[in-house]
Amino acid sequence: MPIDPTLPYDDANIFARILRGELPSKKVYEDEWALAFDDIAPQAPVHILVIPKGSYVSWDDFSAQASDAEIAGFARAVGQIARDAGLVEPGYRVLYNVGLHGGQEIPHLHAHIFGGRPLGRMIG
Ligand code: 5GP
Repeated sequence: MPIDPTLPYDDANIFARILRGELPSKKVYEDEWALAFDDIAPQAPVHILVIPKGSYVSWDDFSAQASDAEIAGFARAVGQIARDAGLVEPGYRVLYNVGLHGGQEIPHLHAHIFGGRPLGRMIG
């Protein structure tokens, strides 16, 4: 079920629990600002989720409330993870689902990185 984007941050969400080490994940990257791990139900040969260390519900929350350092650190991590995965030359897609129409299901901001095959045009 897509989340209600007006709800406050829920510390019990799955990605918060992965961040705290309470649930396992296949980690591919970690630094001061971000943690990245494989999506449990990949929709492309490469499907990595990147989450900020801070408690942000969505891209909307993060882009409005996070510090410049958090935003820069997170953006650089997303780029580095794609480079490390060898995705730059063939190309890749970064996607943020936000709120009800965006189909966001986990209420902790996450960037989806997709790659490893031609991904088609945009949505639908
Ligand atoms: P959303 O729809 O919120 O943008 O995407 C949530 C993503 O999280 C989905 O692609 C889903 O497969 C993934 N996911 C859900 N639960 C887990 C989990 O426990 N571990 C991992 N690694 N991914 C998960």
